[in-house]
Amino acid sequence: MPGKPNNKQRTAIVYFGPERTDYLKLAEAEARSEFLEYIQTPLQAQLGAELHKETCRALSRYTGHGRRMRRLQGWVGEAQEIPIHRVRCCECRAVFTVLPSFIMRYRRQDTDCLEKLLRLSLAMHLSQRHTALVYTWGGAERAWGPTWMWNLVQWLGNLMPVAWLLMRLGLTPPRHVLSDEKFAVLDGERIYLFLVSQGELIWHAEWLDNLDETAFEPAIERFLTQIEQAAQQQQLLASEQSYQPETMNTDGWKAAQNAWKQKVPQGNLLECLLHGRKRVDVTLDTYAQAHPELNESERDHLKEKFDHVFAAPSLAAYSQRLRRLREALGDDPILAQRLDILQDKRFLFTNYLKFPEASAFSSPIDRSMRFLDEKLQTFGQFRVSKTINTTLNAWAIVNNLRPFLPDAKKAGQSLAATFGAKLKGIPWMEALNICTVGVLDTLIPSPGTLKISDTNF
Ligand SMILES: [Zn+2]
Repeated sequence: MPGKPNNKQRTAIVYFGPERTDYLKLAEAEARSEFLEYIQTPLQAQLGAELHKETCRALSRYTGHGRRMRRLQGWVGEAQEIPIHRVRCCECRAVFTVLPSFIMRYRRQDTDCLEKLLRLSLAMHLSQRHTALVYTWGGAERAWGPTWMWNLVQWLGNLMPVAWLLMRLGLTPPRHVLSDEKFAVLDGERIYLFLVSQGELIWHAEWLDNLDETAFEPAIERFLTQIEQAAQQQQLLASEQSYQPETMNTDGWKAAQNAWKQKVPQGNLLECLLHGRKRVDVTLDTYAQAHPELNESERDHLKEKFDHVFAAPSLAAYSQRLRRLREALGDDPILAQRLDILQDKRFLFTNYLKFPEASAFSSPIDRSMRFLDEKLQTFGQFRVSKTINTTLNAWAIVNNLRPFLPDAKKAGQSLAATFGAKLKGIPWMEALNICTVGVLDTLIPSPGTLKISDTNF
C-alpha cells in the first residue's frame, strides 16, 4: 500500500490556467518578472519549511535560477519542447523546479495523454498490452516494451492512497461506509478483495489471503488510519481525534462484522437487506424440497411474509411482524431456524432506519467489484501479490475520477464530483497532479484574488 505522498522532492506543481498557452506566455517570455510574480503565491502555499534548508527563515521569496527545455508527448501529434523554469529561495538558496500542472514528475507524457492511457487500461475492457498498442498508433516514435503500461499503473498506484486524494479534492471522511469482500484468483490461488466505499465511491481497496477476523482487523485498521492521517493533516480532525464511521454496511459475513465491531466500537453495523432476503430464498428452497406438496403460489405467499418483515418501518414493527410469523410458521424446524437468525439480526436489519443517509443495500459496491474482478483477470502474467494493492489503488483512483460517458445521466461528471469533490473545471489527471503537492482548493487561485507581489526581482 502506498504510504504518505512524497513531498520531499524540490518540485512545485503550479496551475497557470485552462490553456497551455496560459503557461507558455509567461514561461517563454524574455523577461522573467511576470512568471516570477505569478509563482510566488502558489509556491508559498506548497513549499513548506521541510523543503528549504534548515536555516531558512523566509520561505516566501523566489527568484529565477535558469530555464531548460523538456520534451513532452501529448495524446496526438509529435512531442513538443516545453520550457521548464528553476527558481531559488532568496533566503536559503534552495533550488526548486516549477512544473506547470499539465506535466507530472518523471513522465514523458502530458496529463491529458496519461489520463487517456490509464482510463483505457483501468476503466475499460482493454488489456495493458492493447492499451500500449493503441498508444503506438499515434506515431512511430512511441515505442514501448511489454511492461510499459504495467509500470504506468504501478506509478499511479504509488502516488498516494485514494483516500488522501479524495480529501485533497475537498471531500470529508465518509460517515456511512459499505464494506465488501469478494474472491479473485491470483496465480491459480484464491485470494479476496476487500473494499470500503461510500456508495459507489471507493475509499479503500486491498487484497486478503483469507476471510478470518485476523485478516479483516489489520485491513480495517489500515483503512481507518489512512483516513485519520489525511483528515488530521488537513485539519478536518483534531490531532488527537480518531476517525470512526457512524455506520458500516456489510453483506453479512460474520468475521467481517466482528472485525468492524472490534475496530469501530461506537459504530453501527448494518446488514445488506438484499443479502438477507437472498438467504431467505435459500431457506425456502430447502423448505420446498422437504415439502413437495407446496405449490408455487403458496411459496410466493411465504416469501411475501418474510419480505414484509424486512420492509418494517421500525425496530418495533420488525419485531412484531417477526413474532406473528413465528406464531404461524415456527413449528417447522427449517423455517424456525431462519426466524431465529432474523431475530438475532434485528438490529443489523433495521439500523439503517436510524440513519437516513446510510444505504440499506450494499449493491453499489457490488457493481464496482464485478468490474474489478474482470480487470484483474486481464492483467495476466502480472498478477504478482506484492503489486496487487498498488494496482487496486490505481484502479480506485481512476474509478472515482473518470468522467461518466456522454450518454450517462450525469455525463461529464465523475463519481468523486457527485460526492462533492471540487475539481474547478480542471481535467482529473491534472487535478490529481496538483493534489500530489497539497489541497487543490488552496493551490488554485480564485478569479480576481490572485495577488501580484510587489517585490522587486
Ligand atoms: Zn529558503
